[in-house]
Amino acid sequence: MTEKAKILIIYTGGTIGMRTDPATGALRAFDFTDVYNEFPALRSLPVELQFYDGLTPIDSSNVTPELWVQLAEIVRDHYDRVDGFVVLHGTDTMSYTASALSFMFENLAKPVIFTGSQIPMGVLRTDGRENLITAIEIAAARNAEGAPLVPEVAIYFQSNLFRANRATKRSAEQLNAFTSNNYPPLAEVGVAINYQTSLVRRAESIEPLKISCSLCRDIVVIRLFPGITERTLRAMLGVEGVRGVVLETYGAGNAPTAEWFVRALSEVIERGVCVVNVTQCHGGAVAAIYETGVALLNAGVVSGGDMTTEAAVTKLMYVLGQTTDPDEVRGQMLMSLRGERS
Ligand code: ASP
Repeated sequence: MTEKAKILIIYTGGTIGMRTDPATGALRAFDFTDVYNEFPALRSLPVELQFYDGLTPIDSSNVTPELWVQLAEIVRDHYDRVDGFVVLHGTDTMSYTASALSFMFENLAKPVIFTGSQIPMGVLRTDGRENLITAIEIAAARNAEGAPLVPEVAIYFQSNLFRANRATKRSAEQLNAFTSNNYPPLAEVGVAINYQTSLVRRAESIEPLKISCSLCRDIVVIRLFPGITERTLRAMLGVEGVRGVVLETYGAGNAPTAEWFVRALSEVIERGVCVVNVTQCHGGAVAAIYETGVALLNAGVVSGGDMTTEAAVTKLMYVLGQTTDPDEVRGQMLMSLRGERS
């Protein structure tokens, strides 16, 4: 008989961890260290669950890169003792945290599966139970040789397993809250869990897990809108110390061709700031096919291809944390580091 997979559950907060207090009717945090009593069905899973209870549960709107570093360190510190990880996280910023971790881990060879819920765990119609149980099953799934089926950072939510750095929150209301418009699901869940093993990334080498905790926070995200003024653009680009800009453009990467617009961007690029172009569209990629996109390219703007804003932001934070050489930053942003761009 094969040994039971050991899974570490790390609870960071969010809706999934809420239950209604029978006395007051108010929502209060669920005690995950007592999860077997709260949720006896978990006992029937053929896995050995362990719980990490060292984090103070927070709403994910309060997440900062400090939590990303804590999570990376928790994974590193338990890496040799467990077979996989399930991270319970609020849905609002889950795709940022999960993307960030995908970049911070090098040679990851074990599953790190994020999940959460739209309805609290302690509410009868919760989506949290199914999300939690399936996330555990995915984190524990191994092939005939005993190797994990999904050795990457991923988000499981409502029937779909997505690569973390491809996923985005699509709905504040519907139970299938996440989508991945530019990369197919790594697994689809119905009666069975159907893994698309050819789509799953494997560790870049068999070297031990390495975590990088240096993240640059001097980033701005500029979402273009018709009517943006030179004053606004320059104010945002002129934030003191800014080293990276994610520019959310129109369609296939298009932006105004006005001379002031392109000049403002090329000036900061000449100073060594990395400006990455991603599309505001929910799917598709930046491709300089129109004059309006070519002008950006000529100004030195880096194409973000089909990266999500979450992936572009967290990747910039990671890359700028590793190097101060603008050419190296550009080169890394143009490459796929963890399957974040096609
Ligand atoms: N505001 C919550 C959070 O992101 C929403 C959720 O968990 O779904 O923490």
